[in-house]
Amino acid sequence: STTCRARIAAYNPSINAFVRTSPPPPPPPPHPSPLAHETLPLQLATRPVAVKDSICTRGMGAGCASEMLRDFDPPYDATVVTLLRAAGADIIGKTNCDEFGMGSMNIHSIHGPVINPFGSPAHRSSMARSTFPSAPSSSAPPLPPPPSPEARSAGGSSGGSAAAVAAGMCFAALGTDTGGSTRLPAAYCGVVGLKPSYGLLSRWGVVSFADSLDCVGVMAGCVEDTELVFDVLNVYDEKDPTAALPETREAARRACERRMEEMGWSEGRLDGLRIGIPQEYFPAEMTDAVLQPLRRTIAGLQAKGAVVVPVSMPATAYALSAYYVLASAEASSCLARFDGVEYGLHVRPPPGTDLATTSTAELYALSRSAGFGREVKKRILLGTYALSADAFDNYFLQAQRVRQLVKDDFDRVFGIPDYRQCTTGETGSEGVDVLVHPSAIQTAPRLDGEGGGGLETYVQDVLTVPASLAGLPALSVPVAGEGWPVGVSVVGQWGCESVVFAVGRAAE
Ligand code: GLN
Repeated sequence: STTCRARIAAYNPSINAFVRTSPPPPPPPPHPSPLAHETLPLQLATRPVAVKDSICTRGMGAGCASEMLRDFDPPYDATVVTLLRAAGADIIGKTNCDEFGMGSMNIHSIHGPVINPFGSPAHRSSMARSTFPSAPSSSAPPLPPPPSPEARSAGGSSGGSAAAVAAGMCFAALGTDTGGSTRLPAAYCGVVGLKPSYGLLSRWGVVSFADSLDCVGVMAGCVEDTELVFDVLNVYDEKDPTAALPETREAARRACERRMEEMGWSEGRLDGLRIGIPQEYFPAEMTDAVLQPLRRTIAGLQAKGAVVVPVSMPATAYALSAYYVLASAEASSCLARFDGVEYGLHVRPPPGTDLATTSTAELYALSRSAGFGREVKKRILLGTYALSADAFDNYFLQAQRVRQLVKDDFDRVFGIPDYRQCTTGETGSEGVDVLVHPSAIQTAPRLDGEGGGGLETYVQDVLTVPASLAGLPALSVPVAGEGWPVGVSVVGQWGCESVVFAVGRAAE
């Protein structure tokens, strides 16, 4: 962790991944306690882990990159943070993000954009991943200059977490993923990013954006480290009312175990693994830069015994529109609590205001106008409209129907059933085990280029939102390409993280 703190001090001014860091933990006692041999080693002992600033950390703030929560300092840890600490992790700091998780480029932040560290001195000196990155020596490069006009986005909304991992500032990082916010930045920065099955990781203490979609995401330098952190966090939490019940988790886990044992998959071999390639995941906007690395990855998996099966998922074309209607509708409700009275920034009315004639709505509007940024206001307006009586059927209900169609597409192609709905299902031999597709349609976009605010920004999420709508596990793995990093996504049935990780390791 000393190394990581030194790297943060040297490189964060130019990357802007961290908004706050914690003081180093006290040094271990000089003589190990006589009982030391009796305690098991902790899974994450002394490992520095960064946490997105929309996840509560006691005494370290949770500002969500918003004016609204700039001064918010939670008096408690989110369950996922408690679990990290219990596993021995050093919570090294809080990472920059898009305000309340809304965005794909980490440009909607009161702390300014995160700069993609790929190819920078920070990134080059962190690349020896088998050993932990070295601290910058005194002859280390001086502070890099301010972002050049060619600076690229780290992706969003968990851009700070992805950049922190890519620049060797931490061992792993937590993000959140509502529609792609862990996978997209992981792909742009060249690190691994997991959006787990909805309901596996506790959301208690995680600031809501859209409750039915929000997941805590995990990022690390390789699949093995991502899995290690996921295993620490994959615990039922009764404080999260949307947590999957222990018996549901267990049924899915056992089904995957049976399939993996029956097929004899081990490190290096995936004989008979059925990989679905969804034909609708190759839209016209997709660039060649992501296609070649995908083809190579698929060929590599085939060489290990996997079988490729083309599949069709016809509802994909409507998933993005449905996502933005649903996520905005839920956001308008989730963010209603920030009224400047009970929660959030409080703006006083100008002196001399006659409070007797000022409505509560006018008072709320003062705080909300000052507290929320442009993108958040846009979503609240869009979402409130979609929920209004006149538009409800045409927008909100229609989007819910599309969500079900997207879900049905996945259930039709997977061999393992969704144990949230059926606990006795048989694994079909015709279905696929995983889907594989590019994580994004392009490599990291330039910060000064197109895509800063128009509709085209939303297109970046077209390949990540279907798994979010269906609540399925999706892992973005960086694969060999030329130039800027490319991520390939592995998507599995609900609760099938073990299969997804096995394929991810083989794709690395
Ligand atoms: N880019 C998407 C959005 O802006 C996804 C965000 C997320 O996953 N938090 O809504």
